[in-house]
Amino acid sequence: MVIVGGGASGVLSALHLLWATPERVRVVFIEPRGELGYGIAYGTSDPGHLLNVRAGCLSARPDQPGHFTQWARQHTAAHGESFLPRSLYGNYLRSLLGPVEHIRAHVRHAIPVGGRVQIVLSNGTHRSADRVVLAPGSSPPQWPAPLRGADRRWIGDPWRPGALSEVTPGKPVLLVGTGLTAVDVALSLHAAGHRQVVATSRRGLLPSSHPEQPHPPLRLVPPRHPTARSLLAWAREARAEAGDWGAVVEALRPHTDNLWGAMTTTERARLLRHIHRRWEIHRHRMAPPVADRIDAMRELGELSIAPGGIRSAKTDRRGIHVELADRRLRFGAVINCTGPTADVRHSTNPLIQRLLDHRIVRPGPLALGLDTDADGCLPDTDSALWLVGPLRRGHRWETTAIPEIRTQAAALPHSLWQQRSTIGA
Ligand SMILES: Cc1cc2nc3c(=O)[nH]c(=O)nc-3n(C[C@H](O)[C@H](O)[C@H](O)COP(=O)(O)OP(=O)(O)OC[C@H]3O[C@@H](n4cnc5c(N)ncnc54)[C@H](O)[C@@H]3O)c2cc1C
Repeated sequence: MVIVGGGASGVLSALHLLWATPERVRVVFIEPRGELGYGIAYGTSDPGHLLNVRAGCLSARPDQPGHFTQWARQHTAAHGESFLPRSLYGNYLRSLLGPVEHIRAHVRHAIPVGGRVQIVLSNGTHRSADRVVLAPGSSPPQWPAPLRGADRRWIGDPWRPGALSEVTPGKPVLLVGTGLTAVDVALSLHAAGHRQVVATSRRGLLPSSHPEQPHPPLRLVPPRHPTARSLLAWAREARAEAGDWGAVVEALRPHTDNLWGAMTTTERARLLRHIHRRWEIHRHRMAPPVADRIDAMRELGELSIAPGGIRSAKTDRRGIHVELADRRLRFGAVINCTGPTADVRHSTNPLIQRLLDHRIVRPGPLALGLDTDADGCLPDTDSALWLVGPLRRGHRWETTAIPEIRTQAAALPHSLWQQRSTIGA
């Protein structure tokens, strides 16, 4: 069994396969990073980057909800409602995995042939496996057209190791995007001494904050045959009753995939056009201590939010001259903080590009992620190629955060063994 990608999705998949039948499965990871379990989200070394999910919801074991919190107590004061450092979660996943074979390379190609998969690695070697789980995460952010990174002062991928240390201190920095990625980058820049940061997006909406205590449970009965219009009308009523969008979005979480699955592609596209950004700001919220720090930076004028996006930009020796909706400013650097993209048409992952080019996989509905069956199997691959993680978004709207990824990983052993009784690499 080969797992491509050693971030949270890959490691949770391996854990559930190993826990289900340790004697029958041999797991081989192919992952260019030196450590397994961290990926992009948990690979940060910035202690200010906190989990945006409460510790009590992050157990790797669905049958033991307190598992992560108990583990974390060995390292820090933690309780189920805590928002802990993200790197701690990477340590947790890594500690659960134990020794496994780890090939440090990129997978360049994966070709299903006769019930097996031939894998081509970046180090020039090949592997063959009868089951391959793809867990490559989303793609790094793309510059919104027509912006293009002309030189090193345009930082296209803020998660590239060392990317932010290239930003010259003492000069204003522009963040393109105002979501959780911009929040992360603003915190890291602040810790590095930057005090003139502007973040811009079309609407200039920052993510909302989690409440200190979880919302009391709401009993929701969403429409059974939703259209974009009926769902929006229902959501507005629910919001009026609950008094808070965050409470409605939270309570909808167990229903979201069913609602999404019950809509036609046209209705899904319509819904996204109307609510995508607003949904994101209430669904992917800041931990309260992070929100406090962002508020403090804004009050001191160290971070400002500029709605309206970028009108024009010109780069010369002195800096990047940007026209925003309400001001013109010269920046020392512009950082793409638009966040990961699940639109595979723009994927910069060479493996995904090659699989699409060779028609081994196809885009999911609305080009969100890849097309899979309900269990995550990629169609027409003789049940040999499987997908776990954010690239299942076309079919499962909720597929980004750990609680949902864990559910996919936990279902994997059963799905794989329905297809075949023994698995080996
Ligand atoms: C900055 C950030 C913060 C987040 N914070 C939270 C949070 O607090 N709580 C939460 O629940 N969710 C959070 N998320 C959501 C996140 O999607 C999931 O929690 C989870 O980390 C996704 O893991 P992944 O393994 O699918 O992807 P990734 O973390 O992106 O890992 C994918 C791995 O695959 C490897 N890879 C990619 N292509 C190849 C290839 N061709 N060959 C070999 N290896 C390859 C990469 O090197 C990488 O290590 C966050 C996401 C981001 C980006």
